[in-house]
Amino acid sequence: MIVAHLPTGYLIGALLERRFRPAACSPRLWLAVALLGAFAPDLDMLYFHLVDGRQHHHHSYWSHWPVVWFGALALALAWQRLAQQTWVPTLLVLFTLNGCVHLLLDSVVGDIWWLAPWVDQAFSLATVTPRYQPWWLNFILHWSFLLELSLLGAALWLARLRWRGGSTQAAL
Ligand SMILES: [Zn+2]
Repeated sequence: MIVAHLPTGYLIGALLERRFRPAACSPRLWLAVALLGAFAPDLDMLYFHLVDGRQHHHHSYWSHWPVVWFGALALALAWQRLAQQTWVPTLLVLFTLNGCVHLLLDSVVGDIWWLAPWVDQAFSLATVTPRYQPWWLNFILHWSFLLELSLLGAALWLARLRWRGGSTQAAL
C-alpha cells in the first residue's frame, strides 16, 4: 500500500493530536513523528536494494515483523504509563502505532510474516492476480487501490480543513 502509508500516518497523527499531543511537543514535530512511523518499516528497502541484492522479499525482514512493531508499541505504552515526564514516550507510542498500522495496510495485498520469527509463512488478505501489462496496472485496477485512494482523499480533506485556518479540533 505504497500510496496509503503517509496519508494514513497523517490521519492518525492529526486525529490523535488534540487528545494526546504533549504541550512540550510542537504540532510540526507531532506530525513529523506520525509520518516517520507510517513510513519507517519501508526504510528496509535501502537494505533490500543496496545490501541484500533483492534476494529476499523485504517484508520478510525483521523490520516488517509484527512482533517487533507491536512489541515496541507495548513497551512504549508501558513506558508512557510509568514515566514522570511523558512527551518522549508519547511520541514513541505514536511512532510505533503508525508502524503497526503500516503492517496492517501491507497485509491487505502484500505478504506479511505475521508469525515470524516462529513460523516462516506469509499472510495477506487478498491477492493481486497478474492479468495486465505493465505490472503496476494490476494494482491500480484491483479493489484495494480504492482503499488507498480513499485514505489519500481523507487525508487531503483533513489537511485542507486544517490549512484553511482551522485546526483538527475545530474540524472534528
Ligand atoms: Zn511496508
